[in-house]
Amino acid sequence: MPALTNRKRVLVTGGAGFLGSHLCERLLAAGNDVLCVDNFFTGSRDNVLHLLDNPHFELMRHDVTFPLYVEVDEIYNLACPASPIHYQHDPVQTTKTSVHGAINMLGLAKRVGARIMQASTSEVYGDPAVHPQPEEYWGNVNTTGPRACYDEGKRCAETLFFDYHRQHKLDIKVIRIFNTYGPRMHPNDGRVVSNFIIQALKGEPITIYGDGQQTRSFCYVDDLIEGFLRFMDTPAGVTGPINLGNPGEFTMLELAEKVIRLTRSASTIAHKPLPQDDPKQRRPDIAKARALMEWEPAVPLDEGLERTIAYFRGRFFS
Ligand code: NAD
Ligand code: UDP
Repeated sequence: MPALTNRKRVLVTGGAGFLGSHLCERLLAAGNDVLCVDNFFTGSRDNVLHLLDNPHFELMRHDVTFPLYVEVDEIYNLACPASPIHYQHDPVQTTKTSVHGAINMLGLAKRVGARIMQASTSEVYGDPAVHPQPEEYWGNVNTTGPRACYDEGKRCAETLFFDYHRQHKLDIKVIRIFNTYGPRMHPNDGRVVSNFIIQALKGEPITIYGDGQQTRSFCYVDDLIEGFLRFMDTPAGVTGPINLGNPGEFTMLELAEKVIRLTRSASTIAHKPLPQDDPKQRRPDIAKARALMEWEPAVPLDEGLERTIAYFRGRFFS
Protein backbone atom coordinates (compact mmCIF):
# COMPACT_ATOMS: atom_id res chain seq x y z
CA MET A 1 0.00 0.00 0.00
CA PRO A 2 1.40 3.45 -0.82
CA ALA A 3 2.30 5.81 2.04
CA LEU A 4 -0.35 8.36 3.11
CA THR A 5 2.22 11.18 3.30
CA ASN A 6 5.20 11.98 1.12
CA ARG A 7 7.59 10.93 3.90
CA LYS A 8 9.51 7.83 2.88
CA ARG A 9 9.08 4.80 5.14
CA VAL A 10 12.57 3.38 5.62
CA LEU A 11 13.46 0.07 7.26
CA VAL A 12 16.93 -0.26 8.80
CA THR A 13 17.79 -3.81 9.90
CA GLY A 14 20.55 -3.88 12.50
CA GLY A 15 19.47 -0.31 13.25
CA ALA A 16 20.41 -0.48 16.94
CA GLY A 17 24.03 -1.28 16.10
CA PHE A 18 26.99 1.03 15.60
CA LEU A 19 26.44 2.00 11.95
CA GLY A 20 22.68 1.44 12.03
CA SER A 21 22.11 3.94 14.83
CA HIS A 22 23.99 6.67 12.93
CA LEU A 23 22.04 5.82 9.78
CA CYS A 24 18.68 6.03 11.62
CA GLU A 25 19.69 9.45 12.95
CA ARG A 26 20.54 10.77 9.49
CA LEU A 27 17.39 9.32 7.90
CA LEU A 28 15.19 10.96 10.55
CA ALA A 29 17.00 14.27 10.11
CA ALA A 30 16.26 14.05 6.38
CA GLY A 31 12.51 13.79 7.10
CA ASN A 32 11.86 10.05 6.76
CA ASP A 33 9.84 7.64 8.89
CA VAL A 34 12.30 5.09 10.24
CA LEU A 35 11.55 1.54 11.33
CA CYS A 36 14.56 0.14 13.18
CA VAL A 37 14.62 -3.66 13.42
CA ASP A 38 17.17 -5.43 15.61
CA ASN A 39 17.52 -8.59 17.71
CA PHE A 40 19.99 -6.79 20.03
CA PHE A 41 22.69 -9.44 19.60
CA THR A 42 25.44 -6.83 19.36
CA GLY A 43 23.33 -3.68 19.19
CA SER A 44 21.48 -2.06 22.06
CA ARG A 45 18.54 0.18 22.89
CA ASP A 46 21.12 2.58 24.34
CA ASN A 47 22.36 3.35 20.82
CA VAL A 48 18.93 4.66 19.81
CA LEU A 49 17.65 5.87 23.19
CA HIS A 50 17.85 9.48 22.01
CA LEU A 51 15.56 8.65 19.06
CA LEU A 52 12.79 6.86 20.98
CA ASP A 53 10.78 10.03 21.66
CA ASN A 54 10.71 10.93 17.97
CA PRO A 55 7.21 10.08 16.63
CA HIS A 56 8.75 9.22 13.26
CA PHE A 57 10.99 6.53 14.79
CA GLU A 58 9.90 2.99 15.68
CA LEU A 59 12.05 0.30 17.29
CA MET A 60 11.10 -3.35 16.75
CA ARG A 61 12.77 -6.42 18.26
CA HIS A 62 13.00 -8.98 15.47
CA ASP A 63 15.49 -11.52 14.14
CA VAL A 64 15.94 -11.19 10.37
CA THR A 65 16.38 -14.94 9.98
CA PHE A 66 12.57 -14.99 10.35
CA PRO A 67 10.24 -13.37 7.79
CA LEU A 68 9.07 -9.83 8.40
CA TYR A 69 5.82 -8.34 7.12
CA VAL A 70 5.85 -4.54 7.09
CA GLU A 71 5.07 -1.85 4.51
CA VAL A 72 8.12 0.21 3.57
CA ASP A 73 9.57 2.12 0.61
CA GLU A 74 13.30 1.52 1.23
CA ILE A 75 15.33 -1.07 3.11
CA TYR A 76 18.90 -0.83 4.41
CA ASN A 77 19.96 -4.36 5.38
CA LEU A 78 22.68 -4.02 8.04
CA ALA A 79 21.72 -6.83 10.42
CA CYS A 80 24.80 -8.98 11.05
CA PRO A 81 27.48 -9.03 13.74
CA ALA A 82 30.51 -7.30 12.27
CA SER A 83 33.50 -7.88 14.53
CA PRO A 84 35.49 -11.14 14.38
CA ILE A 85 34.85 -11.90 18.08
CA HIS A 86 31.11 -11.45 17.68
CA TYR A 87 30.63 -13.18 14.34
CA GLN A 88 32.77 -16.15 15.45
CA HIS A 89 30.81 -16.52 18.71
CA ASP A 90 27.99 -18.41 16.92
CA PRO A 91 29.24 -18.90 13.35
CA VAL A 92 26.21 -20.89 12.20
CA GLN A 93 23.90 -18.07 13.28
CA THR A 94 26.21 -15.59 11.49
CA THR A 95 25.81 -17.40 8.17
CA LYS A 96 22.07 -17.74 8.76
CA THR A 97 21.79 -14.03 9.49
CA SER A 98 23.54 -13.11 6.24
CA VAL A 99 21.87 -15.69 4.02
CA HIS A 100 18.38 -16.22 5.50
CA GLY A 101 18.34 -12.54 6.49
CA ALA A 102 19.06 -11.53 2.88
CA ILE A 103 16.38 -13.90 1.52
CA ASN A 104 13.79 -12.56 3.98
CA MET A 105 14.60 -8.91 3.32
CA LEU A 106 14.74 -9.45 -0.46
CA GLY A 107 11.37 -11.24 -0.24
CA LEU A 108 9.98 -8.28 1.65
CA ALA A 109 11.40 -5.84 -0.94
CA LYS A 110 9.87 -7.93 -3.72
CA ARG A 111 6.42 -8.00 -2.08
CA VAL A 112 6.25 -4.25 -1.41
CA GLY A 113 8.37 -3.04 -4.36
CA ALA A 114 10.99 -1.41 -2.12
CA ARG A 115 14.50 -0.38 -3.09
CA ILE A 116 16.96 -2.39 -0.99
CA MET A 117 20.58 -1.80 0.02
CA GLN A 118 22.91 -4.51 1.30
CA ALA A 119 25.72 -3.69 3.74
CA SER A 120 28.39 -5.94 2.27
CA THR A 121 32.01 -5.81 3.29
CA SER A 122 35.63 -5.61 2.21
CA GLU A 123 35.85 -9.12 3.72
CA VAL A 124 34.45 -10.44 0.43
CA TYR A 125 38.01 -9.80 -0.85
CA GLY A 126 39.42 -12.03 1.94
CA ASP A 127 43.20 -11.78 2.27
CA PRO A 128 43.54 -9.82 -0.97
CA ALA A 129 46.18 -10.61 -3.55
CA VAL A 130 45.27 -7.41 -5.47
CA HIS A 131 46.03 -4.11 -3.78
CA PRO A 132 44.24 -1.69 -3.45
CA GLN A 133 41.00 -3.58 -3.99
CA PRO A 134 38.78 -2.54 -6.92
CA GLU A 135 35.21 -3.86 -7.17
CA GLU A 136 36.23 -6.13 -10.08
CA TYR A 137 38.53 -8.19 -7.84
CA TRP A 138 36.89 -11.54 -6.98
CA GLY A 139 38.76 -12.04 -3.73
CA ASN A 140 40.81 -14.63 -1.89
CA VAL A 141 38.68 -16.21 0.84
CA ASN A 142 39.40 -19.40 2.78
CA THR A 143 36.03 -21.14 2.64
CA THR A 144 36.69 -23.33 5.70
CA GLY A 145 38.48 -20.94 8.06
CA PRO A 146 37.10 -19.16 11.14
CA ARG A 147 36.29 -15.97 9.18
CA ALA A 148 34.35 -17.86 6.49
CA CYS A 149 30.99 -17.72 8.32
CA TYR A 150 31.09 -13.96 7.85
CA ASP A 151 32.95 -13.70 4.53
CA GLU A 152 31.04 -16.44 2.72
CA GLY A 153 27.74 -15.39 4.27
CA LYS A 154 28.25 -11.88 2.90
CA ARG A 155 29.39 -13.23 -0.48
CA CYS A 156 26.28 -15.42 -0.72
CA ALA A 157 24.13 -12.43 0.26
CA GLU A 158 25.64 -10.46 -2.64
CA THR A 159 24.81 -13.37 -4.97
CA LEU A 160 21.21 -13.38 -3.73
CA PHE A 161 20.91 -9.63 -4.27
CA PHE A 162 22.08 -9.92 -7.87
CA ASP A 163 19.89 -12.96 -8.57
CA TYR A 164 16.80 -11.17 -7.21
CA HIS A 165 17.77 -8.22 -9.40
CA ARG A 166 18.13 -10.37 -12.55
CA GLN A 167 15.27 -12.76 -11.83
CA HIS A 168 12.71 -10.48 -10.17
CA LYS A 169 13.88 -7.03 -11.39
CA LEU A 170 14.46 -5.86 -7.82
CA ASP A 171 15.96 -2.38 -7.35
CA ILE A 172 19.16 -3.28 -5.46
CA LYS A 173 22.17 -1.37 -4.13
CA VAL A 174 25.21 -3.26 -2.83
CA ILE A 175 27.93 -1.45 -0.91
CA ARG A 176 31.20 -2.96 0.28
CA ILE A 177 32.15 -1.27 3.54
CA PHE A 178 35.79 -1.06 4.60
CA ASN A 179 36.79 -0.75 8.30
CA THR A 180 34.71 2.03 9.85
CA TYR A 181 35.03 3.51 13.32
CA GLY A 182 33.48 6.17 15.53
CA PRO A 183 31.23 6.81 18.53
CA ARG A 184 28.95 3.92 19.57
CA MET A 185 31.34 1.18 18.51
CA HIS A 186 30.76 -1.70 20.90
CA PRO A 187 33.41 -1.39 23.65
CA ASN A 188 34.01 -5.16 23.85
CA ASP A 189 33.82 -6.23 20.24
CA GLY A 190 37.57 -6.62 19.93
CA ARG A 191 37.90 -4.38 16.88
CA VAL A 192 41.21 -2.69 16.67
CA VAL A 193 40.17 0.96 17.06
CA SER A 194 37.96 0.41 20.13
CA ASN A 195 40.47 -2.03 21.66
CA PHE A 196 43.38 0.39 21.31
CA ILE A 197 41.44 3.40 22.62
CA ILE A 198 40.11 1.55 25.68
CA GLN A 199 43.51 0.03 26.44
CA ALA A 200 45.15 3.45 26.11
CA LEU A 201 42.57 5.15 28.33
CA LYS A 202 43.04 2.44 30.97
CA GLY A 203 46.82 2.72 30.67
CA GLU A 204 47.01 -0.99 29.82
CA PRO A 205 49.35 -2.43 27.16
CA ILE A 206 48.14 -1.99 23.57
CA THR A 207 47.68 -5.48 22.10
CA ILE A 208 49.14 -5.76 18.62
CA TYR A 209 48.43 -9.06 16.90
CA GLY A 210 51.47 -10.33 15.00
CA ASP A 211 54.22 -7.89 14.07
CA GLY A 212 51.76 -5.02 13.51
CA GLN A 213 52.80 -4.56 9.86
CA GLN A 214 49.35 -5.62 8.55
CA THR A 215 47.43 -2.65 7.17
CA ARG A 216 43.85 -1.38 7.28
CA SER A 217 42.10 1.74 6.00
CA PHE A 218 39.84 3.45 8.53
CA CYS A 219 36.76 5.46 7.58
CA TYR A 220 35.02 7.79 10.05
CA VAL A 221 31.36 6.84 10.51
CA ASP A 222 29.89 10.19 9.31
CA ASP A 223 31.71 9.88 5.99
CA LEU A 224 30.44 6.35 5.49
CA ILE A 225 26.81 7.21 6.24
CA GLU A 226 26.99 10.09 3.76
CA GLY A 227 28.11 7.49 1.18
CA PHE A 228 25.16 5.21 2.10
CA LEU A 229 22.64 8.00 1.51
CA ARG A 230 24.20 9.19 -1.73
CA PHE A 231 24.36 5.69 -3.16
CA MET A 232 20.75 4.92 -2.14
CA ASP A 233 19.73 7.99 -4.16
CA THR A 234 21.48 6.95 -7.38
CA PRO A 235 19.16 5.99 -10.26
CA ALA A 236 17.55 2.55 -10.46
CA GLY A 237 19.84 0.15 -12.29
CA VAL A 238 22.95 1.48 -10.53
CA THR A 239 23.44 -1.63 -8.45
CA GLY A 240 27.06 -1.60 -7.34
CA PRO A 241 28.82 -3.38 -5.80
CA ILE A 242 30.60 -0.22 -4.78
CA ASN A 243 33.46 0.23 -2.32
CA LEU A 244 32.98 2.73 0.51
CA GLY A 245 35.95 3.41 2.74
CA ASN A 246 38.83 5.74 3.39
CA PRO A 247 41.82 5.05 1.12
CA GLY A 248 44.33 6.19 3.78
CA GLU A 249 46.28 3.05 4.74
CA PHE A 250 48.01 2.47 8.09
CA THR A 251 49.83 -0.38 9.78
CA MET A 252 48.49 -1.48 13.17
CA LEU A 253 51.74 -0.21 14.71
CA GLU A 254 51.11 3.24 13.23
CA LEU A 255 47.55 3.15 14.57
CA ALA A 256 48.76 2.19 18.05
CA GLU A 257 51.26 5.07 18.05
CA LYS A 258 48.54 7.54 17.01
CA VAL A 259 46.16 6.35 19.73
CA ILE A 260 48.88 6.55 22.40
CA ARG A 261 49.78 10.09 21.28
CA LEU A 262 46.19 11.36 21.04
CA THR A 263 45.17 9.94 24.43
CA ARG A 264 48.49 11.06 26.01
CA SER A 265 48.66 7.55 27.45
CA ALA A 266 51.63 5.86 29.10
CA SER A 267 50.58 2.49 27.58
CA THR A 268 53.27 0.26 26.15
CA ILE A 269 52.87 -2.16 23.23
CA ALA A 270 52.38 -5.91 23.75
CA HIS A 271 52.51 -8.33 20.81
CA LYS A 272 50.01 -11.22 20.72
CA PRO A 273 49.60 -14.05 18.18
CA LEU A 274 48.08 -13.12 14.83
CA PRO A 275 44.59 -14.69 14.41
CA GLN A 276 44.19 -17.27 11.61
CA ASP A 277 43.45 -15.84 8.13
CA ASP A 278 43.96 -12.25 9.30
CA PRO A 279 44.21 -10.20 6.05
CA LYS A 280 47.71 -8.73 5.57
CA GLN A 281 46.61 -5.59 3.74
CA ARG A 282 43.43 -3.71 2.90
CA ARG A 283 42.75 -0.46 1.10
CA PRO A 284 39.71 0.48 -0.97
CA ASP A 285 39.91 1.69 -4.53
CA ILE A 286 37.12 4.30 -4.39
CA ALA A 287 37.38 5.59 -7.97
CA LYS A 288 33.83 4.41 -8.70
CA ALA A 289 32.28 6.17 -5.69
CA ARG A 290 34.18 9.34 -6.60
CA ALA A 291 33.03 9.29 -10.21
CA LEU A 292 29.45 8.20 -9.59
CA MET A 293 28.46 10.41 -6.67
CA GLU A 294 31.42 12.70 -5.99
CA TRP A 295 31.88 10.96 -2.68
CA GLU A 296 35.08 10.74 -0.74
CA PRO A 297 35.86 10.74 2.97
CA ALA A 298 36.42 14.16 4.55
CA VAL A 299 37.48 13.27 8.10
CA PRO A 300 41.20 12.53 8.51
CA LEU A 301 42.16 9.65 10.82
CA ASP A 302 43.58 11.87 13.59
CA GLU A 303 40.40 13.95 13.75
CA GLY A 304 38.11 10.91 13.70
CA LEU A 305 40.19 9.25 16.42
CA GLU A 306 39.94 12.39 18.57
CA ARG A 307 36.14 12.35 18.29
CA THR A 308 36.02 8.63 19.05
CA ILE A 309 38.38 8.99 22.01
CA ALA A 310 36.18 11.81 23.39
CA TYR A 311 33.15 9.49 23.10
CA PHE A 312 34.82 6.57 24.92
CA ARG A 313 36.23 8.89 27.57
CA GLY A 314 32.83 10.49 28.22
CA ARG A 315 30.86 7.24 28.16
CA PHE A 316 33.10 4.88 30.07
CA PHE A 317 35.77 6.89 31.91
CA SER A 318 34.04 9.99 33.31
P1 NAD B 1 27.10 -3.94 14.86
O1 NAD B 1 27.39 -5.28 15.43
O2 NAD B 1 27.20 -2.77 15.76
O3 NAD B 1 25.65 -3.90 14.20
C1 NAD B 1 24.99 -5.04 13.71
C2 NAD B 1 23.55 -4.98 14.21
O4 NAD B 1 22.82 -6.10 13.69
C3 NAD B 1 23.46 -5.09 15.74
O5 NAD B 1 22.59 -4.10 16.25
C4 NAD B 1 22.92 -6.49 15.97
O6 NAD B 1 22.21 -6.63 17.18
C5 NAD B 1 22.06 -6.68 14.74
N1 NAD B 1 21.82 -8.09 14.39
C6 NAD B 1 22.72 -9.10 14.32
N2 NAD B 1 22.12 -10.23 13.94
C7 NAD B 1 20.80 -9.93 13.77
C8 NAD B 1 19.67 -10.68 13.38
N3 NAD B 1 19.75 -12.00 13.10
N4 NAD B 1 18.47 -10.05 13.30
C9 NAD B 1 18.36 -8.73 13.60
N5 NAD B 1 19.41 -7.96 13.97
C10 NAD B 1 20.61 -8.57 14.04
O7 NAD B 1 28.05 -3.76 13.60
P2 NAD B 1 28.23 -2.55 12.59
O8 NAD B 1 29.66 -2.21 12.58
O9 NAD B 1 27.24 -1.49 12.88
O10 NAD B 1 27.88 -3.25 11.21
C11 NAD B 1 26.66 -3.05 10.52
C12 NAD B 1 26.72 -3.73 9.17
O11 NAD B 1 27.77 -3.19 8.39
C13 NAD B 1 26.95 -5.24 9.26
O12 NAD B 1 26.18 -5.89 8.28
C14 NAD B 1 28.42 -5.37 8.92
O13 NAD B 1 28.71 -6.62 8.33
C15 NAD B 1 28.62 -4.22 7.94
N6 NAD B 1 30.03 -3.78 7.93
C16 NAD B 1 30.54 -3.03 8.94
C17 NAD B 1 31.88 -2.65 8.90
C18 NAD B 1 32.51 -1.79 9.98
O14 NAD B 1 33.70 -1.52 9.91
N7 NAD B 1 31.80 -1.32 10.97
C19 NAD B 1 32.69 -3.07 7.84
C20 NAD B 1 32.14 -3.86 6.85
C21 NAD B 1 30.80 -4.20 6.90
N1 UDP C 1 44.19 -6.14 15.88
C1 UDP C 1 45.25 -5.92 16.73
N2 UDP C 1 44.99 -5.76 18.06
C2 UDP C 1 43.73 -5.79 18.56
C3 UDP C 1 42.65 -6.01 17.68
C4 UDP C 1 42.92 -6.19 16.32
O1 UDP C 1 46.41 -5.87 16.32
O2 UDP C 1 43.58 -5.62 19.80
C5 UDP C 1 44.47 -6.28 14.43
C6 UDP C 1 43.84 -7.49 13.75
O3 UDP C 1 44.66 -8.63 13.87
C7 UDP C 1 43.70 -7.00 12.32
C8 UDP C 1 43.46 -5.50 12.47
O4 UDP C 1 43.88 -5.17 13.79
O5 UDP C 1 44.91 -7.20 11.64
C9 UDP C 1 42.01 -5.10 12.30
O6 UDP C 1 41.24 -5.92 13.14
P1 UDP C 1 39.66 -5.73 13.32
O7 UDP C 1 39.18 -6.90 14.14
O8 UDP C 1 39.38 -4.38 13.82
O9 UDP C 1 39.07 -5.78 11.85
P2 UDP C 1 39.27 -6.77 10.58
O10 UDP C 1 40.38 -7.74 10.85
O11 UDP C 1 37.96 -7.45 10.45
O12 UDP C 1 39.60 -5.85 9.50
